[in-house]
Amino acid sequence: MTRITLSCTEPYAVRPFYAGGKPLLHDAPFWGMTLKKAGSMRFRWNETNGTRDTLLKEITSGGSASQNGAPCDPVPLELIHSKIVYSVSSASDTYGLQGDGIVTDRTSLMPVVTAADCMPIFFYERERGVFGVAHSGWKGTGIVTEAIAVMRRIYGTDVKNLSVALGPHIRSCCYIVDEERASYFKKNFCDDCVREYESGYANAKRYRLSLEKANLSLLEASGVRDENIAVCDDCTGCDERFGSFRRETGGDVQKPFTVQAAFCGWIR
Ligand SMILES: [Zn+2]
Repeated sequence: MTRITLSCTEPYAVRPFYAGGKPLLHDAPFWGMTLKKAGSMRFRWNETNGTRDTLLKEITSGGSASQNGAPCDPVPLELIHSKIVYSVSSASDTYGLQGDGIVTDRTSLMPVVTAADCMPIFFYERERGVFGVAHSGWKGTGIVTEAIAVMRRIYGTDVKNLSVALGPHIRSCCYIVDEERASYFKKNFCDDCVREYESGYANAKRYRLSLEKANLSLLEASGVRDENIAVCDDCTGCDERFGSFRRETGGDVQKPFTVQAAFCGWIR
């Protein structure tokens, strides 16, 4: 597994997938995420977001053209914290839909999801050219397994050719959860994805949760090779270059926060 970082001072960052421990810099899609500086990339079918439209246009046409020299089309999705993954062959295939993951084999498309502390997970399967992105928060943990199942079923993906990147998310330094959520993760994913948090004053026990460890255990169970995995060390909770639901709102769903767009495509 390769540890990387997405921290930068630009409005968005783009990074390569890894295979055999090396970055795929040619003939492969790239993945990336917008940062707080870019503004909120929130997406709802019944809303307009001009900031998002402008930035996605820049990314897809972006100084660096897509594989065939033409800009690719963003494929949006309205998030619902589910484990629903769509396979698409045109940008309109997700129209009006809700879910949390998109995969495709079309180089003319750029699947886009959003995240603000939740983990974006990026996929690229080298043999069949299948790629995509999923949004994995605590409720959606397990969507990585579903995305791999969709790639196998629809495209005949062989998992040994699959590269996966776990994007910036709220890490265990900042992700404190209660006993109920901690036991849910222990029971469903792995023992070491939670550890007790010594707050010193709380009556109820609190735990640090590692979405990274939970997802790495799922990737291992799916047969994804360690040398094909890249993990972002950035924590959206404590690095102010990122938008963060927890940091910006203190957990109050009424308050606004900066949603980031996570995307994957033949954008360089
Ligand atoms: Zn942190």
